[in-house]
This record gives sequence, C-alpha cells and structure tokens, in this order.
Amino acid sequence: MTILNIQGNFWLYWFMFCGIMMSGYFTAAASIYWLMYLAVGKQPTDGPHEGRLQDSKVIVADIKLSVLSVIFFALGAACFMVCYNQGLTRVYADWKIQNLSYFIFSYVLVLWLQDAYFYFFHRLFHLPSLFKWFHQGHHQSRPPTPWTFFALEPMEAAIQASFLLSITFIIPLHIGVLISILLTMTIWALGNHIGYQVVPYSRLSCCWGRWCIGSAHHLVHHQRYSKHYGLYFTFWDKVMGTQDASYKAQLGVWLTKPGSRPPDSV
Ligand SMILES: [Zn+2]
Ligand SMILES: [Zn+2]
Repeated sequence: MTILNIQGNFWLYWFMFCGIMMSGYFTAAASIYWLMYLAVGKQPTDGPHEGRLQDSKVIVADIKLSVLSVIFFALGAACFMVCYNQGLTRVYADWKIQNLSYFIFSYVLVLWLQDAYFYFFHRLFHLPSLFKWFHQGHHQSRPPTPWTFFALEPMEAAIQASFLLSITFIIPLHIGVLISILLTMTIWALGNHIGYQVVPYSRLSCCWGRWCIGSAHHLVHHQRYSKHYGLYFTFWDKVMGTQDASYKAQLGVWLTKPGSRPPDSV
C-alpha cells in the first residue's frame, strides 16, 4: 500500500513539475526571444547567419529537444520530492538549522561543483564517439537562440539532472537555497544562449567576462566546439587550456578602452 502511494505521488509530482518547467521554458524563451530579436531588432550575428533570424525549423527542433529534457528533469524533481517526503535527503526547511553564512557557502559550493561536473562531462560529450548520442542536439542551432538553453539530448539531460538529485543526498541544503540554485542555473543557462553580447562593453562587463560565463563567452563554444566548455565560471576553461585566446585578447582591448567594440566582436 505504501509503495502504491509513493508511486502515485511520484507521477503526480512528475506531472506537476513537467507543467512548471514547460511553462517556465516557454515563457522565458519566448519573452527573451521576442524582446531581443523582434522588439529590439537584434539578429543572430555569426558569419553566414548575420542579419537573419534563426531558421524556424531549427527553433522547432530546439523546442522538441527542450520538451524531452523537461521530462527528464521532471523525473529527477519527482524523485527528489518522494525522497524528501520520506526524509531521505539532506534538504531541510527550518531556517534555524543553519545560519546565513552557511546558506551563502552552500549556494556557492553547489554552483562550483556543478560547474566542474558540467565542464568535464561537456568535454566528454564532445568526444567523436559520444557526441552524436549525448550532445549533437544542443549544437543544431548555430548561433544559439533563447530556445536553445534547455535543448539537451535525453542522455545529457539525465546526466545533468542526476547531479542535482545526487547533491540533495550529500550536502545539507535549505530548500530556499536549493530553489535559488535551480533559478540561478535556469537564468544563467538562458543568458548564455542569447546569441550575442547583451551587456554593453565596459570595464564592469569585462570583469564579469573574465571570471564568469555569459552570452559572448558561450557563443564562442557554439562557433568553435573545442573551446569554452564551462557553465558558470571561466575557471576550468583557463586551468584546462580551453579558453579561446582571441576572447582573452578582446577582453584586454575592452578593459583598456571601455566602450570600444572591435569589428569582429559579438
Ligand atoms: Zn557543447
Ligand atoms: Zn550551449
């Protein structure tokens, strides 16, 4: 009877999370796409694509893959809820268990671990023998658009979702911190796939570009597959030698001449 109840809850949770994630994906991607590409009049800027909106067939393919990804992430979320209700995870709801400095520490720690996990799996997915099965779908859109941020092959989606699920069994996390991590991941991934530099070039944006990944940094990955594998921070790309030299040089130009925009910039 208990098992039947758990299974019932599991699929109810899965259905609920599918709805939440699906509506979040369509609302976020559609509004950013409309705002950036249609209202502001920006176009993808990437060689042969310059001056043209992304092919609608590619956008439809991104949407199909994103819907599949939602199914896998919702499975992970439903697993979490069932385990949380059973007291099996290390996630808690009481604010008094830890202090504010631990909340901040745990938030940064999980982002840091997720960034490393993403970087090394991302490099693995680019091995010729794995690329087709794990990652090809994410690169069908060149340049990426806001519709691309959730477009993962099912096996890649399962691997990324399993990180988030596993972490809830290992690191004590307040539920508010966990939600903040999920929101950060979603917003950051969306920002990385806008397809061009959004923030005007300035000393501030160049400092951000030096340490954190944004749309200009990740666009390089969609142009040159052998560079820029990180998710949040440039740390692993620098340490592992996958930071693009021309990107670094451009940052240097922008830092010495704030407001300048090299002709080949994105
Ligand atoms: Zn890739
Ligand atoms: Zn991407």
